[in-house]
Amino acid sequence: MAYLQVRDIAKRYGAVTALAGVSFAAEKGDIVALLGPSGCGKTTLLNLIAGFFAPDAGDIQVAGRDLAGVPPHRREMAMVFQSYALFPHMTVADNVGFGLASRRMKKSERTPLIAEALAAVRLADYGERYPAALSGGQQQRVALARALVLRPSLLLMDEPLSNLDTLLRKTMREEVRDIIKRTGVTAILVTHDQEEALAVADRILLMNGGRIEQEGAPEEIYERPRTVFGARFMETTNFIPAQAAGRAGNALVLDTPIGRLHATHGEAEPHGPLTVSVRPERIRLADSATSATPEQNRVTGTVRSSTYLGTLYRLHVAVGEEMLVAHVPVADKMREGDTVHLTWPASETLVLTGGEAALPAPPPAERVP
Ligand code: ATP
Repeated sequence: MAYLQVRDIAKRYGAVTALAGVSFAAEKGDIVALLGPSGCGKTTLLNLIAGFFAPDAGDIQVAGRDLAGVPPHRREMAMVFQSYALFPHMTVADNVGFGLASRRMKKSERTPLIAEALAAVRLADYGERYPAALSGGQQQRVALARALVLRPSLLLMDEPLSNLDTLLRKTMREEVRDIIKRTGVTAILVTHDQEEALAVADRILLMNGGRIEQEGAPEEIYERPRTVFGARFMETTNFIPAQAAGRAGNALVLDTPIGRLHATHGEAEPHGPLTVSVRPERIRLADSATSATPEQNRVTGTVRSSTYLGTLYRLHVAVGEEMLVAHVPVADKMREGDTVHLTWPASETLVLTGGEAALPAPPPAERVP
């Protein structure tokens, strides 16, 4: 049995269903990200695992132990918060040792454990400093050391990097993952930041409206979203409404407003409204001689705008009534009004369940001009 087992967890707050039957498992040493937009239930799930309140239904087991009725302080978990919650009047070493002291551990026993935890977060020489004399990233590492020194059964992290500026967040992602992996602790990370989940986690639970929309390795969640919600949350662009029109070899044939497309990835037996998607970076410019095949999609359109982004051009290309975004190498400079042939492999064509009509408006950055 897996180290952490969460089964059919449901939780309501009055009329609001925060969790509607969530199940997942984690092996020892795994980092699992609970990823999703605000209100999808990720904090509720973390708090239920921590034992701050009880689920309406379902059960949670760690190392074969059912946690129903076990109060938070008996679950041997440690939590890292967005705010770090360090004590300003205590030195770094005393902050890290606080949990051990409250367990009435003797100072002589605490000292080597504190030193070990500080070394694990690369702050071995900072024990005598006060939190105010540390950078945001260092404070975050102290908060991690304070959690890890307890050798928790689970490390629970609620948006741990949200307080850091963008640049530091990016370096801290790798650092946090590295520290967790070296200590071997099993960790759950709550985040609404897809890049953070991709960089830190071994597995991602993408949540939507109190349910798990899709679960998988970071590569799978990014490369192979199954639903329009998942693709949109992972910042895929180019959504084209489609209808299944049979098969050609192992490719699914799709009728769309921009012509017939082929996809070798997606639902085996699609039903209901479908949406076809392709990432802008998977689209290439083709010369006019190339013709479409079941392996390779091809459409012709007119460049509506071309934006220089340093390493590439972002093209907005009108294909019939639809607008496609393509990222092309700077060598392929195009001008407004140019006719272009766009091509992308059937294997990079995502067939998503859920129609475009059901979607909320895209964020402004994705809106075509
Ligand atoms: P965020 O990232 O904004 O914290 P979240 O994904 O963590 O969002 P939750 O905080 O778990 O989401 O909330 C899930 C749903 O339950 C939301 O609709 C929220 O409004 C509701 N909710 C959460 N806590 C309470 C509460 N104490 N009383 C009533 N409703 C609540």
